[in-house]
Amino acid sequence: MIFAQIFDMISVGIVVIDKELNVEKWNRWMETHSKIASENIIGHSIFEHFPQLETKWFIRSCKSVFAFGNFLFFSQKLHGYIFPFMNSFTFCTEFSCMQQNASMGPLRDENNQINHLYIMVNDVTEIASYEKKLIEINTRDPLTEVYNRRFLSNRLQEEIERFKRYGRPFSIILQDIDHFKKINDTYGHICGDFILKKFAHLNSERLRSVDIYTRYGGEEFCCILPETRLESAYKLAEDLRVTIEKQLFEFEGNKFNITMSQGAVEITLGVSNAEQLLKSADELLYEAKNTGRNKIAARITEM
Ligand code: GH3
Ligand code: MG
Ligand code: MG
Repeated sequence: MIFAQIFDMISVGIVVIDKELNVEKWNRWMETHSKIASENIIGHSIFEHFPQLETKWFIRSCKSVFAFGNFLFFSQKLHGYIFPFMNSFTFCTEFSCMQQNASMGPLRDENNQINHLYIMVNDVTEIASYEKKLIEINTRDPLTEVYNRRFLSNRLQEEIERFKRYGRPFSIILQDIDHFKKINDTYGHICGDFILKKFAHLNSERLRSVDIYTRYGGEEFCCILPETRLESAYKLAEDLRVTIEKQLFEFEGNKFNITMSQGAVEITLGVSNAEQLLKSADELLYEAKNTGRNKIAARITEM
């Protein structure tokens, strides 16, 4: 009697399923969030109400509980959620469905036989939402809202590992606005900030969705171009160069144009870390600056 009350009061979802994967118990928490009354689901297959659970991993998980008495954990980080509960009941709107950590395990009868399993569901939407915000804050540049240097280093390292392991080539383009100091000196720092934001926006919207645009520092930006050989990277850099050159910037009645110089490199086997790759792109950028600016220097650099 007492346990029955706890079963219905606890703010955790509890489901009991038999060997045929029919629902045997469905607590109040599950009723509230699924909007399915227990009398409408008890005795029915779990897949009747949740057909999306009819997947290999779910069926395999249930089988392993019945066969071996395994305890399993389904992390929100991996799955997002097990039961799709619409998120209108929480203040947080970033996720369309309640984010869940869930566990599954055996229930033994008096003969130690496993004829039932339980699923316990925890709502972790709020934690997941804070985590998402923290990740955003940690990886974005506050002025331009593109990814920051920390993200760039980590992501480049991942791409390098991928290249070493699977041979997937990629290229990077390092950009530097020409004579940017003059803009700050002539029109002021706030105008400089405005240019940086617009510049970052113009570049990032020209890229493919798989490409990554980052602020390397100051008026320097870096594009990571997965699965891209140097020739295509060069073409893209030229496209970006023309886009920036043609754009008329307007700030508080002043109208002006800017240009940028770029260094483009493709990954090679000799490169083992992000700093090496950035260094070769920086050398090419320097070359573009020294040979007239508003241009691209590109090369496959053998280390
Ligand atoms: P170059 O063509 O050789 O690249 O010349 P440059 O003037 O662009 O290069 P320099 O390195 O001399 O100057 C970069 C300037 O960028 C100086 C610095 O004040 C400015 N800068 C860096 N970060 C910011 C920022 O966040 N906002 C503004 N407004 N200016 C910035
Ligand atoms: Mg610079
Ligand atoms: Mg510059």
